[in-house]
Amino acid sequence: MSQTVTMDKIVAFCKRRGFVYQSSEIYGGIRSSYDYGPLGVEMKRNVKEEWWRRTVHMRDDVVGLDAAIIMHPRVWEASGHVGGFNDMLVESRTSGRRYRADHLIEDATELDAEGMSAEEMTRIIQEDERIKDPVDGGRSFAPVRPFNLMFETYTGPVKAPENVVYLRPETAQGIFVNFKNVMQTSRVKVPFGIAQQGKSFRNEITPGNFIFRTREFEQMEMEFFVEPGTDEEWHEYWLKERWNWYMNLGLKAENLRSYEHPKEKLSHYSKRTVDLEYNFPFRGWSELEGIANRTDYDLKQHAAFSGENLEYFDQATNNRYFPYVIEPAAGPDRIMLAFLVDAYTEEVVNGEERTVLKLHPRLAPTKAAVFPLSKKEPVSTVAKQLYDDLKGDYRVFYDDSGSIGRRYRRQDEAGTPFCVTVDFDTMEDKQVTIRDRDTMEQERIPIQAVRERLHNLISG
Ligand code: ATP
Repeated sequence: MSQTVTMDKIVAFCKRRGFVYQSSEIYGGIRSSYDYGPLGVEMKRNVKEEWWRRTVHMRDDVVGLDAAIIMHPRVWEASGHVGGFNDMLVESRTSGRRYRADHLIEDATELDAEGMSAEEMTRIIQEDERIKDPVDGGRSFAPVRPFNLMFETYTGPVKAPENVVYLRPETAQGIFVNFKNVMQTSRVKVPFGIAQQGKSFRNEITPGNFIFRTREFEQMEMEFFVEPGTDEEWHEYWLKERWNWYMNLGLKAENLRSYEHPKEKLSHYSKRTVDLEYNFPFRGWSELEGIANRTDYDLKQHAAFSGENLEYFDQATNNRYFPYVIEPAAGPDRIMLAFLVDAYTEEVVNGEERTVLKLHPRLAPTKAAVFPLSKKEPVSTVAKQLYDDLKGDYRVFYDDSGSIGRRYRRQDEAGTPFCVTVDFDTMEDKQVTIRDRDTMEQERIPIQAVRERLHNLISG
């Protein structure tokens, strides 16, 4: 008997269990910034680790990279971000609030505002009576204007225009500008990929929906370089790979879908883009990641702006060319929210209510909990020993307070897939009880076998 998860419920749950807190809360909080607590940091690391494991470690055609956040400002001229990384901003004259014009239009009408010019949006907002200031219902708006989303700052002590730098709005460009370095220093041959994870920054006009859209967030991006002509096939390949990643980690198939961007609305660099979307109960289908065919746009731009030759030389055919690029670009914060919502379950079993996070063991913040039935020796000593034995492999929790039932419920809520109880019989038969979070079934196994059993259950 699962209930609908509301945003309020998930935010309260995340705070109560130490997944996510509002940033700077003791000062009243700051909008759009969140901190990951003890359980949240483990879970987000697991999301990133699973991406890295599948995208880099399990393959022999992808290598990793960790580029700087502050890059040469010319990078962002070449990439098109200085000139074109804009959202359309509209200011309400009645409340003084600023909104994304496309959101105002789309929320009030059946129109699709993506790709509309500022003039077109201004005209629609002025003419369509249904479009109102969400705060006060006002209908007086200033003309729509583009707003650049990049955060600017200065390097060094002088705040002069020549010292302006940007906080990167995507991790991808760090990969393109290192294309030559990676080619020269590792034995990669097209087709191959370079993967990166890290913080990105966008001065979003209307952040919101908790960790779904924030101004500081993380990305996991991979640029996969292929021979032109093979790009469409590789695009299909990565669409499947990325879909399977979610399925292998237990996301419910009915909550994931592909969304094909219409041709006329593609970004300037894209030949085809498909998003993977999750059906959030509080906001409907929303992008978790975009998988784009970026063509040879970025490498050609950087070659032109930097003067470096960024072509690939194919030794087998003696050909030089700019590779095409397939890019799966995902956000671990959004993905974590999707997995949380997907796993959150309130159910009644045998007349008892419980809240349980049915997370895949690989994503669960804590993999196992160890419970001594008694706080006294020798039970506690044996339990502690087992805990010490397990804890180096992954996060394990030791809990000796409260009834066993309460301890189970605490771990169910935290998403801990396995609880191991050491009881009085253990002293005699050297066996412990291992309980499965989802089925709540218990099994007795030798204490010596726990480590291997958990290993198999978690990595299976
Ligand atoms: P949106 O349309 O939702 O603003 P986008 O299409 O601009 O997203 P991309 O530039 O494709 O996003 O970035 C790739 C991924 O980075 C997104 O799918 C998302 O998971 C993540 N991402 C982008 N912007 C944000 C943000 N403000 N907060 C959290 N995650 C983000």
